[in-house]
Amino acid sequence: ASQDKSDLRSPICCILGHVDTGKTKLLDKIRQTSVQEGEAGGITQQIGATFFPKEALIEKTEVVNKDGSVDVKIPGLLIIDTPGHESFTNLRSRGSSLCNIAILVIDITHGLEPQTIESINMLKMRKTPFIVALNKIDKLDVTEWKVNKDTGFRDTLAQQSKRMQRMFEDRLQHVKMLLMEQGLNSEVYDKNPNPGRIVSIVPTSAVTGEGVPDLLALLVKLTQERMTGSLMYISEPEATILEVKVIEGLGTTIDIVLVNGFLKEGDTIVLCGMNGPIVTNVRALLTPQPMRELRIKSAYVHHKQVKAALGVKISAPGLEKAIAGARMFVANNADEEEYYKDLAMDDLTSLDKFVQKSGRGVYVQASTLGSLEALLVFLKDMKIPVFEFGLGPVYKSAVIRSSLMLDRAPEYAVMLCFDVPVTFEAEEQAKRDGVKIFSAMIIYHLFDAFKKHMEEVTE
Ligand code: GDP
Ligand code: MG
Repeated sequence: ASQDKSDLRSPICCILGHVDTGKTKLLDKIRQTSVQEGEAGGITQQIGATFFPKEALIEKTEVVNKDGSVDVKIPGLLIIDTPGHESFTNLRSRGSSLCNIAILVIDITHGLEPQTIESINMLKMRKTPFIVALNKIDKLDVTEWKVNKDTGFRDTLAQQSKRMQRMFEDRLQHVKMLLMEQGLNSEVYDKNPNPGRIVSIVPTSAVTGEGVPDLLALLVKLTQERMTGSLMYISEPEATILEVKVIEGLGTTIDIVLVNGFLKEGDTIVLCGMNGPIVTNVRALLTPQPMRELRIKSAYVHHKQVKAALGVKISAPGLEKAIAGARMFVANNADEEEYYKDLAMDDLTSLDKFVQKSGRGVYVQASTLGSLEALLVFLKDMKIPVFEFGLGPVYKSAVIRSSLMLDRAPEYAVMLCFDVPVTFEAEEQAKRDGVKIFSAMIIYHLFDAFKKHMEEVTE
């Protein structure tokens, strides 16, 4: 009760879905503002994320809030940018997960696509609450759809022709049926009697802005309802690493989302590294320059201290072996440092349980901790045994490990590589040894390739 308003924390939202469903466009649309150019209602572009302050949320939900039923209490909303859906797979499922809520974007004219289904499985696995943006409603018929820019969904639907309304209803029913096949009950959000159990659908157009106010209002409502009590307030620092990147002049940096707490320049951070825990000190906390400050030379704004939730780049020595998708900890003393070193490595070592004790199985390689975990869980479900796994590009050494199977179980002399480059030397080695390398950006494709391979070898 002693907690005051300045202690309030913003919820975090991720967007995911199949390529070209309109994820980027939807974010762009949400970022746009009717407030005079430049001001953008305090919306700030961060590292890998965009922050929408309370005022922007109030303004953008006005058209669907004539009765005042949307009462914005959260200090703002942090939306994580997702290039494709890769960065969502990044995120580890364990610990306090990064997302308080997710938006699954579905193209109303396409229905469910492979990455939509993969996203649904990911959301289920991580128990992340989500809503569906049924996007591109304007595209149902580009000539007949009557555009009502940035209006609420019901308002615009009421103004469509009878034929358009029927067409929308047909497509909606079709998508609901497809979702049902994935084990999901769904309903348009304002007709949803039980948002806790039934997925809410918000029809939107990222081009015309129709339904976008509804989407934001629903995000506000659902996160407020779920983030009750202590969840609403700032507490211990919690962070997830989104990306590990080499930046000219800074060396290897990490882009993180600070989910909770504060982070200061000079803080001791502990993270999971490829060859063991990394302990280092924050040299700089960086966010991008605001748009209108482009004439300023430096690409980044430096911060002495930052507060959750936000996306920030950390420059520090010794980050070369950091692993994307893992958690990051802040240690206040030597004891905490030791404690967090174990905890940080848990993120990686906990995956050892997916390795077959028999020493027979395929070799698995993935880009991030999160995608590696997703792949391992999937392979377990598919009863494909795993012999060993790795992160990052595929090097010759991994191929040599995999070639051990040629004697033990030749059908498993296979490498399943998800979203990682394969080096030339590795390819050459694989050809020489007779190890098969399958690479893909979609988990299912790896499964298909492996299934085909098994059919061939058992023939
Ligand atoms: P992403 O891959 O999910 O990020 O998809 P994009 O945001 O890049 O959108 C893919 C394409 O679909 C682009 O050409 C967009 O202009 C278009 N698009 C996205 N949303 C809509 C929409 O609501 N209506 C229409 N007509 N086109 C859209
Ligand atoms: Mg995109």
